[in-house]
Amino acid sequence: MKAIIKTKPGPGNVELVDVPVPGIAETEVLIKVRAMGICGSDILIIDGDMDANVPIILGHEFSGEIVEKGSKVTHFSIGDRVASELSIQSCRWCVDCRRGDFHLCANRRAPGIHMNGVFTEYIALPEFSLHKIPDNISYEEGAVMEPAAVAAHGVLERALIQPEDFVVIIGPGTIGLLALQMVMHYGAKKVVVAGKENDMHLRLLTAQELGADRIINVDRENIEDIVFEMTDGRGADLVVDCAGTQSAIYEGIQVLKKHGRLCTMGMPGEIEIGIPWKKAIFRDMDLIFSYSSSASSWNIVRSMLERGAINVKPLITHRESFSNYQIVLDDATKGNVIKAILFHES
Ligand SMILES: [Zn+2]
Ligand SMILES: [Zn+2]
Repeated sequence: MKAIIKTKPGPGNVELVDVPVPGIAETEVLIKVRAMGICGSDILIIDGDMDANVPIILGHEFSGEIVEKGSKVTHFSIGDRVASELSIQSCRWCVDCRRGDFHLCANRRAPGIHMNGVFTEYIALPEFSLHKIPDNISYEEGAVMEPAAVAAHGVLERALIQPEDFVVIIGPGTIGLLALQMVMHYGAKKVVVAGKENDMHLRLLTAQELGADRIINVDRENIEDIVFEMTDGRGADLVVDCAGTQSAIYEGIQVLKKHGRLCTMGMPGEIEIGIPWKKAIFRDMDLIFSYSSSASSWNIVRSMLERGAINVKPLITHRESFSNYQIVLDDATKGNVIKAILFHES
């Protein structure tokens, strides 16, 4: 089978390579991959800005169909349509695992980062990491369950969105636009989505179409002035950072009210980010970090997709067959993409 492999560290070094179809253990299933999502962290790894255990098959966002199962697999059947958490390996016994926080396990290993990923034709996975994708969504939409679970973990489980919160989302990529839909569904009073000049053509327009009360191009507008004007001088209750950049964290703290909270899900790669400490401490602010997704956030997302409470379709802006992967990788690197999906022709 074919697989997209990062062969060595540094920028680039990505090749389409022939590899054997994996065998399965008793507790694993073999999944025929049907749709694969390209994530910002894949681009960081490809560009050499984030470490991965190379050589490695890239990718972690996907959906597929179970085509074979081990003798001890009890909760899934052949033909089931599934997606998978990233915590494919975790000890299941430490305090974090026993709380359902498999993503925090010291022994966690994730596909496309620590072990072979999903940009291929077949993948062997343990049944405990799988979730069925709802019947009412396509495989392409199912491949967006993982970033949706990341957004749910951030805004619903970590930031604890409250009714009537005034929310500012910085970074209108896939996770930002999913966070937008979630905070609206859970009763935010107003939502502002901020991005940069190159977000204006697609990402910020999509935020507006999805119902954002105000979009801000931070390269041309002053986010602080706008947020304080919209909140009668008080500032935002909650800032959700989906950019992971120094300017996003800085601006995020500037626009918060006293007792405001900033929840960051952005992945900065290998760079360190500073905090405007005095501003944050003199205003009693909460800084909340949210990493990856918990098992429970997947359950939330499955239910929200089933009920139509979130819609991932408008976020899928690019589709390309697997063999043309270079086209979507190039598009994704240029940034004029929300979610790019690779699919297999058959
Ligand atoms: Zn991702
Ligand atoms: Zn553990």
